[in-house]
Amino acid sequence: MSSDRRLDAILDRHRRRPQAVLQVLIDIQAAWNHIPAGADMAVAAALDLPLARVRGVIGFYSFLSAEPCGRYRLLFSDDITDRLAGSRELMRELGSRLWLEPDKVSEDGLVSFGTTSCIGLCDQGPALLVNGRAITRLDRQRVRTIAELIRAEASLADWPADFFRVDDNIQRRDLLLGEPPPTDETVETARALGAAAIVERLRRAGLRGRGGAGFPTASKWAACRAASGNRVVVCNADEGEPGAFKDRVLLTRHADLLIAGMCVCALAIGARQGFIYLRGEYRYLQMHLETVLARQRAAGQLGDGFDIALHLGAGAYICGEESALLESLEGKRGIPRSRPPFPVAHGYLGQPTVVDNVETLCAAAWITGHGEAAWRARGTQQSSGTKLLSIAGDCARPGVYEYPFGVTVRQVLADCGASDTLAVQVGGPSGTCIGADGFERRLGFEDLPTAGPFIVFDSRRDPFEIARAYTHFFAHESCGFCTPCRVGTAMLAAVMDKIAAGHGTRHEIDEIGRLDRALRQSAHCGLGRTACNPTLDVLERFRPAFERRLKSLDFEPAFDLDGALASARAMTGRDDAGAHLSEEGR
Ligand code: SF4
Repeated sequence: MSSDRRLDAILDRHRRRPQAVLQVLIDIQAAWNHIPAGADMAVAAALDLPLARVRGVIGFYSFLSAEPCGRYRLLFSDDITDRLAGSRELMRELGSRLWLEPDKVSEDGLVSFGTTSCIGLCDQGPALLVNGRAITRLDRQRVRTIAELIRAEASLADWPADFFRVDDNIQRRDLLLGEPPPTDETVETARALGAAAIVERLRRAGLRGRGGAGFPTASKWAACRAASGNRVVVCNADEGEPGAFKDRVLLTRHADLLIAGMCVCALAIGARQGFIYLRGEYRYLQMHLETVLARQRAAGQLGDGFDIALHLGAGAYICGEESALLESLEGKRGIPRSRPPFPVAHGYLGQPTVVDNVETLCAAAWITGHGEAAWRARGTQQSSGTKLLSIAGDCARPGVYEYPFGVTVRQVLADCGASDTLAVQVGGPSGTCIGADGFERRLGFEDLPTAGPFIVFDSRRDPFEIARAYTHFFAHESCGFCTPCRVGTAMLAAVMDKIAAGHGTRHEIDEIGRLDRALRQSAHCGLGRTACNPTLDVLERFRPAFERRLKSLDFEPAFDLDGALASARAMTGRDDAGAHLSEEGR
């Protein structure tokens, strides 16, 4: 392995930089369908890294595997909207056609399939990734064809092109999507303004980060500018929140505007280095982004001494958190850092770093190009401008909608063709679940902040199952660094499973509250601290959905000893009366 030419080419492509270890491993995974034995040692030696560090990275990212995957590796998106659209049934259909179970590799090494968290295609799901390429609008016919193509070992280049069609689905435009400024003029304007005036323009515009927390962008950039060191600008293109896909559309349609926003930021903070951290699920956009970057570089738009590199993620939701993203960018496991110090003072490789998401950087470019007054003319006092929403679920017209902040939930529901709506999950699993009594609420930092996901559930849906799906999401995506979250999210999922199985009592309902308090007090980062939110929201608004599953509304212990022995009976092949515990016999 150590002398393999392909490995040398990969290492050379990434200039044998230790920070590029994740990128090297992603390329090895793509070339060999896994990280072959010995590759970890060869990479560690070539990059002068401890072997444990390389193995830690391999174990952390779900798209990397030390075990062989199939030459066709299919990962079904397991978002709640995919499930509602039948993804689980379609996955079973594929398994029966290929004579294969999920998470197993066929004996000839041809194919493997399983699930992954949301891949950002909820508006055109069910969807899957095959060797990193997205297939949308799955149905039984497509699954049948996919099985045949795999059996025939057809190259992906020969699969029907329409399978890979990803629509932008822009349903409503406002400032960003409707009137993007000419990007070359925007950068020229920024150069003419100078650092202080750029920041002042953003301050007067009232721009706040579009990731949900809403930190003022001007304050962040000014703080970074004030810190000493080699400043860095990072675009967070890792929108992993289930139900989020609006950055996918900006990356596809408005990559020029995004890069202009990064140039504006670089001028404002004095950065010479920039990164776009692209989530692994959007790898199919890599070539497009590289092309736009190369064009702007050739046109001299990036300016003297500033350049932008693309960095791929590899299937870790937590890397959407800015400090985890920086760890990943440095080629480590994406474990959130303790703060302070904040990235503006101590970010990428310890240097002052601005991390902003795609929408924020596009908005900064827009404000630079068109001026703050036009931006201020939209939105509300504390939430200026517009917000992109990713709308999916039970509505006639899913897609990306751009609204001035302050729009009501009811208006959004009417526009996307939602009827008989039971609930809306605003802002993803860690956001807020609202029922009909909240439809007059307004999107904005004054009332209902959101990073963009807006998932609609109509009256056919079961709120308990929605909450249960989110608990499993958090248990799966917990990075495992801190015990309260690693254990607490797994316990929460187990509590919900117990209730689903009909063994719950009031004790389990109270247990959810206890877990929430423990996680809020002791989890290391926001994922753990908000992991109980969707469950508590649903419990508060749709309590009967929980109570009708409870074995008892009292605190009666509900451990089912006979049920717990079911796996032992299955293993021994015994199911006679003597293998059961009767009520009397206990
Ligand atoms: Fe990782 Fe969860 Fe701890 Fe955050 S709270 S660091 S996701 S284990």
